Amino acid sequence: MTLSKPNRSAATITANRVDPAPISGICVTCLDGCEGPCEVGRSALKGREIIYPQPFGKVTAGAEKDYPVDFSHFNIQGTCVGAVGIEPDPDKATFPAVDCSTAVGADGSIKLAFPVFTGAVGSTEIARVNWEEMAVGAAISGVIVIVGENVCGMDPQLEMRNGRVVKSPEMDRRINTFKQWYDGTGGIIVQANVEDTRLGAIEYVIDKHGVEILELKWGQGAKDIGGEVKLPSLERALQL
Ligand code: SF4
Repeated sequence: MTLSKPNRSAATITANRVDPAPISGICVTCLDGCEGPCEVGRSALKGREIIYPQPFGKVTAGAEKDYPVDFSHFNIQGTCVGAVGIEPDPDKATFPAVDCSTAVGADGSIKLAFPVFTGAVGSTEIARVNWEEMAVGAAISGVIVIVGENVCGMDPQLEMRNGRVVKSPEMDRRINTFKQWYDGTGGIIVQANVEDTRLGAIEYVIDKHGVEILELKWGQGAKDIGGEVKLPSLERALQL
């Protein structure tokens, strides 16, 4: 049984012409001359551009892979008898009385109002333009927001000395937006890939902003397309 759906995805706006062979994702009758609504046909003509989620800068993309087990397979069965975690009193066992707070970190000093964190919101255009909502939302909700990798490296206003970051207005904006609304619960994580480490992005956010939660990555990108970026102009490509 194939759980993935190769060769077509809503993320790349591709599809099959007729039903696919499950393991390859190629149509059971691949038609001579077909330019493909599929990834194979389109990439043969347009190259790697077709693997980039579309429309560029306007979407966050997820996988269509099926998983044999997910949360929909579990039921929480309520009971009319007794209560757990609170007095069996209908005036006390109410929704607003639910306490989901927790603390994380080696010494438990990172207090969370709710035990979740966002995905890493990094250097992509969709991340940049939506950062404010994510950071403010996390700060006022008391949860963790993550600055994804390569924010300094992609910052058009970046200033470096001896190959190290000395000023990154975009990173400053990311952290300051969160701090402005931070009330003592929640937190901000800064992620660093190999390039961030080389640029000294971690030292920069610690020394300049006092960031206390970091995620070190051993590679670049969590996804198959990690390391690639689409740019609006040749000038920007040359700058990078
Ligand atoms: S090229 Fe056309 S016929 Fe062949 S697999 Fe792709 S969509 Fe199907």
